[in-house]
Amino acid sequence: KLRKGRPKTMQFGPDSLTQIVAVTSGKGGVGKSTLTANLAVSLAQSGLRVGVIDADVFGFSIPGLLGLHGTKPTQVGEMILPPIAYDVKVISIGMFVEENTAVSWRGPMLHRTIQQFLTDVFFGDLDVLLLDLPPGTGDVAISLGQLLPHSDVVVVTTPQSAAADVAERSGLVARQTGQRVIGVIENMAGLPQADGSVLELFGSGGGVDAAAKLSTPEEPVSVLASIPLSIALREGGDVGVPVVIAAPADPAAQAIHALAVTL
Ligand code: ADP
Repeated sequence: KLRKGRPKTMQFGPDSLTQIVAVTSGKGGVGKSTLTANLAVSLAQSGLRVGVIDADVFGFSIPGLLGLHGTKPTQVGEMILPPIAYDVKVISIGMFVEENTAVSWRGPMLHRTIQQFLTDVFFGDLDVLLLDLPPGTGDVAISLGQLLPHSDVVVVTTPQSAAADVAERSGLVARQTGQRVIGVIENMAGLPQADGSVLELFGSGGGVDAAAKLSTPEEPVSVLASIPLSIALREGGDVGVPVVIAAPADPAAQAIHALAVTL
């Protein structure tokens, strides 16, 4: 049970040395959570101390993606110790609600919960904190933007032009709360075929489009990575063993490793 809110020091404030990267998207189903989970594990594999806050309240999937299905945090006094998977410390709204129940909280409740994650969950010193935000431009994105205005934001989109349009909006909201949009990740890009051709199931160009739309003269935004469609990536998510662990030679795993180095 999360404690009733009262003021306490927040971790990861403006003076913190932890790099905070919020992963957002315009709409659901573009692979935001899958990529966040894999990116976290990839960063941890390179020796960094990594934490993930799954703030995707309505579609929390990080625990399952990291094999933590049903795992609850340990409570020590007033502190909540986050479960650890693949050397990544993980906290998720999904760990505090009954299984198979829908979260129908309103803004203030969400805000308090996020705030408590930042105060009561003991992460210790981290090099990188990844935030898996809900898609779109809702209350959680705004709360996190207010609580952690110094966080960097990456926007995930598919190569489809309609997806790129909505991706742009979520990036712009982040910027309104003072966050820096550091780049776009294009996911579900071409699937290499046996005959050497590439199947572009979701078209192409969405990443470049979104980056161009999000760019300003002062703050150019580039495509940080283009992650191909990958059966191994999807399967890894389904069984809770991220592709960067299960099949590191898979092109999607390689692209995620390359992305991790650029952050
Ligand atoms: P979101 O967090 O944006 O809602 P998810 O991470 O839950 O999206 O991904 C949605 C679905 O797409 C999942 O079933 C996931 O396994 C699959 N998926 C994500 N990225 C890829 C990819 N590059 N190739 C194949 N399947 C993918």
